[in-house]
Amino acid sequence: LNQAPMPEVGPQDVRQAVQAFNTMQRDVRRLVDTRAQALSAVSHDLRLPITRMRLRLEGDVAPELREKMQRDLGEMDAMIGHTLDFLRAGSDTEALVAVNLDALLDSVIEDMEELGARITREGRCNQPLKARPHGLRRCIANLLDNARFYGGDSIRVSVEETGTEVRIRITDQGPGIPESELEKVFEPYFRLESSRARHTGGTGLGLPIAKAIAEAHGGSLSLQSKPGEGVTACIHLPRRAA
Ligand code: ADP
Repeated sequence: LNQAPMPEVGPQDVRQAVQAFNTMQRDVRRLVDTRAQALSAVSHDLRLPITRMRLRLEGDVAPELREKMQRDLGEMDAMIGHTLDFLRAGSDTEALVAVNLDALLDSVIEDMEELGARITREGRCNQPLKARPHGLRRCIANLLDNARFYGGDSIRVSVEETGTEVRIRITDQGPGIPESELEKVFEPYFRLESSRARHTGGTGLGLPIAKAIAEAHGGSLSLQSKPGEGVTACIHLPRRAA
C-alpha cells in the first residue's frame, strides 16, 4: 500500500482548528440572527397592507369577491401570526413558575372537547412543575390540534413521571406519518402533501413552535408513528425543584 505517512498533529494545529471552529460558529450565529430579523421585519410590515386591504374591502365590492378576499386575507394574517409566534417561541421571555400540570391539562382538554374531540386521560402529575404556563399551554394545544385535525376525534392524553422528568403523551388514531417524514415535519413550513391537498389553512409551524417551547424548557419533543396506526407525540420536561 502506497500510503503517505500521517503528519503529526501538534498543539499549534489544535489551536488553529479551535480558532477556525469558533469563527465558523460566530458566522453561523450571525447568519441565523440576520435571517430571523429579516423574517420578523417582513412579517410585521405585511400586517399594515393587509389591514388596509381589509378596510378597502368594506367599500363597494361584489359580495362573492369580498368573501373570497376576506378568506385569503385571513389566511395571510394567520401565517404572519404563526411566523411571529415561531420566532418568539424559543426565547424565554416568560418566567418559569410552579405550574399545576393537571389543572393546565384539564383546561386545554376542555377547550378541545368543546370543538368535538373525545379525549381520555391517564396518569397524574403529583407535584407542581417549574414551567412557562402560556408556552406550555400552547405546546400542548398545538399537539392536540394536530391530533384532532389529522387524526380524528378520539385522542388519548397520558402523563407519566419519572425521577428526572415528566412526560406528556398525546396519541391519535389517524393515518399517521410515514417514517421518512417524521424528521421533516419539524422543519418550519413543512406539511405532508396529503395535508397541503386538503387546503386546510395550516402553516406548517405548529410542530416547530411546540418543539421550540419544549426545548426552551430544557426538554424535548418526539414523535412516533406507524402508517395507519396514528401518531404519538411525547413532550419530555425536566423535573426541577419547584
Ligand atoms: P400544520 O398543522 O399547520 O400544517 P404542523 O407543523 O403542526 O403544521 O404539522 C406539520 C405537518 O405534519 C402537517 O401539515 C401534517 O401533514 C403532519 N402532521 C402533524 N401532526 C399529524 C398527525 N397527528 N397525524 C398526521 N399528520 C400529522
